[in-house]
This record gives sequence, C-alpha cells and structure tokens, in this order.
Amino acid sequence: MIGAAALNRDLVDVAGGRARLETPAAVLDLDLFEANMARMSAACAAAGVALRPHAKSHKCAEIARRQIAAGALGVCCAKPGELLALHAAGIDDLFLSAPVASARKIDALARAAAAGARIDLVVERPDLARAYAAAARRHGTRFGALVDLDTGLKRSGVADPAAAVAIATAIAAEDTLVYRGVQAYHGRMQHIDGFAERRAVGADVNGVLAGLIGALTAAGFAPNIVSGGGTGSFAIDGAAGILTEIQAGSYVFMDEGYASVDSTGAGHADFGPALRVAVTVIGHSSAGFAITDGGSKSFALDGPAPRVFLAGREIGRIEWCGDEFGRILPADGGAPLAVGTVVECTVPHCDPTINLHDWLHVCRGDRLVAQWPVEARGRAD
Ligand code: PLP
Ligand code: MN
Repeated sequence: MIGAAALNRDLVDVAGGRARLETPAAVLDLDLFEANMARMSAACAAAGVALRPHAKSHKCAEIARRQIAAGALGVCCAKPGELLALHAAGIDDLFLSAPVASARKIDALARAAAAGARIDLVVERPDLARAYAAAARRHGTRFGALVDLDTGLKRSGVADPAAAVAIATAIAAEDTLVYRGVQAYHGRMQHIDGFAERRAVGADVNGVLAGLIGALTAAGFAPNIVSGGGTGSFAIDGAAGILTEIQAGSYVFMDEGYASVDSTGAGHADFGPALRVAVTVIGHSSAGFAITDGGSKSFALDGPAPRVFLAGREIGRIEWCGDEFGRILPADGGAPLAVGTVVECTVPHCDPTINLHDWLHVCRGDRLVAQWPVEARGRAD
C-alpha cells in the first residue's frame, strides 16, 4: 500500500477519521452499501429470481464475497482480466458476460477453470464454442456455456433464432462444454428515466427474448439459465418472469447517472449513493471558489455532476477544472470552505470511477473501519 491509502491506514477505527482522510480517496459508506445489498437481495427473493451481480461495477473481491454470502449465485465479469484478478483473489463462481477473441486469453481462462474456478462463458458464434471447448480439453476441465442473445442492444449476441439454435447445437456437440442456457442483456433499457417508458421497452425486449427461447426450446435446448437485467430493469424483469437471474451491478454503489432512475416505479432512486470520492479543499480561485484535489483522474466524468457532502450534509455540486481539480459550487452561496476541509462527492458513473482507485475506504458513521483492495482495478483486458 502506498500514497494516501497507506497514510489512511493510521486512521482505521479512529473517531473522526473519516473527515481526516488523505485524498483523493474512494469511500464506501457501509450503511448505504449494506442497505443497497439487502434491498436487491429482498427484491430478487420476492420476485423468485436469482441474483448474479455484475462485478464490473466494483472489481472488488470483498464485495463479491459479500454478494455471494448474501445469496448471489456468483458474479459476472466483463473481461477475462477482471475475471482472472477476482479468481486470484479467491472468487470461484464466475460468469464472463462478453465473448473472447484471443486464444491466449481463452487458454488462461481454461487454466483458471482447471485450478478450481467454475466459469460460465457466453457464445455468439459456433467457432467460439469449439475454441472454448478445445482449451478446456487441453487443461482437463469444463466450461459452462450460454448462447448470447441480442434482444436489441446491438452489441454482442445473435438476434436470429436459427443462429441461436446453431450455437446451442455447437455447444452440445462438445464434451467439455455444458449447455446452461442464454444470456440476454439489454443495456439501453437500464437508463430510461420514466418507469412506464422503461416498462414498455421491457415488454418489447421480453417479446423478442421469448421468441428466441421458444426457438431454442423447440430444438431441444430449453434454457435452465436466462441471464440479464440490471439496476434500472431488475424490478420490471422480475415481474415479467422470463429471466431466471439478474446481472445488476451499479446498485451496490449507485451514481448520478442512476439517481434519476426509479427502478421500481416509486418516483425516486431505490438505492443510496454508497460510493463517494473524498477530496480536499486545497485553495481558492481568484473568483472565490473552493478548489479541490480531484478531477478526471479520480472521477469518471461521463455522467451528471456529483453532489458534495460535508459531514453528511449536502452542500452543493462540483464542476471540473482539469485532470486534478474540481471547483465546489455551494448550494447556499455561502462562504467557501476552508483549506484542508475534506468533502465527499457522489460519482457521475460508478463503474469507470472505481477503475481509477486501488483501495476502497470503508466508512461507518464518522469512522474509517476498513480498507478493501480493488483487485481488478485497471483490468480492462
Ligand atoms: N450485464 C451486462 C452484460 C452489462 O454490460 C452491465 C452493465 O453495463 C450489467 C449487467 C449491469 O448493469 P448495471 O450496472 O446497470 O446494473
Ligand atoms: Mn455503468
């Protein structure tokens, strides 16, 4: 541990330590995080759908462990490097939600499977089934395999029923692949602000999905797993009853991009802003604004501006002034904060923000209670 995170180790369990963090520092508000976890677990249990949360949002083995302890089937990963980093940190139930083009990466995945990881992969063309199977065979292991379906996102997966059946047939032909079902993730649905509009898109998407599942079932490939959904759609998906498991990721942390999305139609966000970035006032601009020590190297900027909290109270917004700096825009137009003041900012977009931090500073009340490594940080490979 180096830098601010190392200095912050001295503050663990010290009263008032949270307000004295060296910054920029990613902060996890443990109360909000636990409430978010409990809310999603309860919603999935009530809808009779399983949870396989997406680890692309947190990249942290301790959070994955807690999700699995709370009943999740395992975690999804977006990239082989992310999956391998979490496996090296002790996570064994792993679902790679995107196809892989590299023979060497496929080989590394097979090596992890041979070392005890239970890995499910998605397949979007028959030759990929053959490549996954051959790697598993070389290492004396097996992969679970799901047909990747495109229900309108136009990213990965097949939209044509005959193509889906051809892929399932290719999976079934391999003794080192176990056919498990389908993945159908519809990302564009997640961030539609109005609940009614989101539900209407969901009905169209589920109609497409039902057609594809019908074709697979008629060909003898009824899926055990139908995996998809996210933080914006989990309630709609749970009610629709087609998905068997939800891949939501952002709900653990939340971000300003999701703050305007009412997942359950309640008219407000269903989860609290558990991920923050603490920054320090390092000076004042000539115009009198407090300038802070975190910009685009500490926050992913692709989302609405963060809200700023001082000792738990919302005091305004932040705007960016460069890679390393922010400018606090106080809501009340009051005097700027003194140099040295530590404030916590919500984040524009949680997934790429956590990718900028090696450590999560876990806080409860006014205390820093732990530091969790973000093992898969930087692993976009
Ligand atoms: N599943 C897949 C394949 C994704 O790409 C994503 C996010 O982009 C998710 C699930 C999780 O979505 P969210 O963070 O919106 O809950
Ligand atoms: Mn996101």
